[in-house]
Amino acid sequence: MKSPFKRRGLLLVLSSPSGAGKTTITRALLDNNTNLKLSLSYTTRPMRPGESDGVHYNFVDVPTFQAMIDDNSLLEYAKVFGNYYGTPFQPVQDALAESEDIVFDIDWQGTQQLKQRLQNDLVTVFILPPSKAELANRLRGRSQDDGAIIAARMAESSAEISHYSEYDYIVVNYDLTDSIRQVQAILDAERCKRRRLTDLPDFVRKLMDQE
Ligand code: 5GP
Repeated sequence: MKSPFKRRGLLLVLSSPSGAGKTTITRALLDNNTNLKLSLSYTTRPMRPGESDGVHYNFVDVPTFQAMIDDNSLLEYAKVFGNYYGTPFQPVQDALAESEDIVFDIDWQGTQQLKQRLQNDLVTVFILPPSKAELANRLRGRSQDDGAIIAARMAESSAEISHYSEYDYIVVNYDLTDSIRQVQAILDAERCKRRRLTDLPDFVRKLMDQE
């Protein structure tokens, strides 16, 4: 989208219970927005079939993850389903400085930590499934995880859902195309927020000076 002024980048957080469609929505947003970057997380969980290192996550072992915690190179981190997940600090700082927007696929614990550190730049969206049955279907359909993991993720879903009220926006994912459109609308509106438009007074001054 064409814009006459510089804007501070924003941090778009998408959270949901596992299987609600968040990752698919994130990928679609990345395809549709050239100045949107994915915050690539580090994780200690094993790679799933079809995933690759440096694309879906940076896959590391526990000592490597612990070293990142110790030297403060993570903006936030959390233990989810027994594995560590965390957001590296430097890429976020670089993107904000270059007026780029970043999308985060992180859980409620990470969202709370980002709120404490970067509240003004944060836009948070929670994706809800239309029903528990639909969530279970999607987890089974994904079939990258075994039965025990799927059962654990279903058990965890209520705990994740209970944090919906900590988010700015709620999207119920009945239909993927509609949900993508809704999240895109949120992103477009937030990009127009006056406080993010750092060059706006200058632009308006020049506008007023025109004949
Ligand atoms: P999955 O194993 O299905 O890829 O992710 C499990 C959960 O971890 C998802 O809810 C996902 O949003 C969350 N997650 C992924 N990366 C991060 C991260 O860097 N930080 C936090 N706090 N959660 C993350």
